[in-house]
Amino acid sequence: MNIESEFLHPEMETLSRAEIEKLQLKRLQETVKHCMNSPFYKKRFEEIGLKPEDITSLEDIKKIPFTTKQDLRDTYPFGMASVPLRECVRLHSSSGTTGNPTVILHTQKDLDEWANAVARCLWMVGLRPDDVFQNSSGYGMFTGGLGFQYGAERLGMLTVPAAAGNSLRQIKFFTDFGTTAVHAVPSYVTRLYEVMQQQGIDPRKDTKLKVLAIGAEPHSEEQRKRIEDMMGVKAYNSFGMSEMCGPGVAFECKEQNGLHFWEDYYIVEIVDPETLEPVPDGEIGELVLTTLNREAMPLLRYRTRDLTRVLGKTCLCGRNHIRLDRMRGRSDDMMVLRGVNIFPIQIEKILMQYPELGSNYLITLTTDDNNDNMTVEVELAENSNETEQIQKLTKNITRALKDEILLTPFVKLVAKGSLPVSEGKAVRVVDKRKVYL
Ligand code: ADP
Ligand code: ZN
Repeated sequence: MNIESEFLHPEMETLSRAEIEKLQLKRLQETVKHCMNSPFYKKRFEEIGLKPEDITSLEDIKKIPFTTKQDLRDTYPFGMASVPLRECVRLHSSSGTTGNPTVILHTQKDLDEWANAVARCLWMVGLRPDDVFQNSSGYGMFTGGLGFQYGAERLGMLTVPAAAGNSLRQIKFFTDFGTTAVHAVPSYVTRLYEVMQQQGIDPRKDTKLKVLAIGAEPHSEEQRKRIEDMMGVKAYNSFGMSEMCGPGVAFECKEQNGLHFWEDYYIVEIVDPETLEPVPDGEIGELVLTTLNREAMPLLRYRTRDLTRVLGKTCLCGRNHIRLDRMRGRSDDMMVLRGVNIFPIQIEKILMQYPELGSNYLITLTTDDNNDNMTVEVELAENSNETEQIQKLTKNITRALKDEILLTPFVKLVAKGSLPVSEGKAVRVVDKRKVYL
């Protein structure tokens, strides 16, 4: 560990494109071979007559069928494992609100590699062993907890496993322990700031904070800027998902020009969700990921349902690992209202442009007199009795939203602190529409 270096793993982070692709092919071939130990993949390969030696170029990845969340559910809990259970040391399971939950198994080597990936991300944004890292995200099955914990320890920082919630205690930890870096979901950072304000604590003067890692839920560039202005520090986008271990899959570098996906760990494809054909670079499609160094449970061409696009393959930071745009949300976050496709993030982008508004908002879809409607409730930054001004503001916001989503929503400006706050991922949409079968 050379603390003068911009790179934690220079041998991987500074590979040229050609070197990345060479390494990927080698690791893909090893992974496909290893997948023959998984009852699920063995059967799948046999059904289509695919043999590991058929993979002779990266292009050949197209011969491999996609893996879906449904496959994970169908093989719940251990049907996809590529090693005997005896070799596994941990599992993470998703909540499974619809159908069976899903399980991801890890060997000790998988956990080590995961910690390395998270440490690499944190190093990239300037964190070093002298830093004090507070993890204000949920622990337990939520991978943002243990994922960041082990990654921050691997880097050698003093870690504060605060977990989510209890904002007063979080803030006391900031000041008492000299916390310099925090990981939290973006909606929780804005909550923490509100409580700091109530306590008369100015993050710029009264804390040593310098870096925020925000992620686990979709958020707009406007939301990020707002968080940076509030807290007076840089906020870096962190992307991950349980199926790919958790955090550490992709992270922004100091250039803040997209998420670097670590291509020594994953093969990235962007496909049209309908035709499943690759889309040209720059066009939005579904992110598909293949793990390249997982032991317990490799996943091949996993359809993440996250929508994004390629921004570039080089970067001023010196890394040639692919850069993707911030996620628009998952294909299943998309609301279809009167035939129009809308993502919550489009609404957030508009709302965050108004300094008069706070950061908490809620979108409710209802059916009234056989018409589907959208109501956008958003908190005011400061409560006000100026009815006329509020009416004018409401009108302006409604017009701006209409320009963005092509439908006119009902906009309600509500009192500061009146909308529900979640300690985990924010709930932005409530769909109360009648379903006609
Ligand atoms: P769950 O599947 O229960 O939501 P995960 O923690 O595995 O639990 O969630 C992963 C998902 O969270 C991703 O597929 C993506 O939709 C979303 N996500 C994670 N990080 C980000 C981010 N930085 N920006 C936008 N969405 C994100
Ligand atoms: Zn970069």
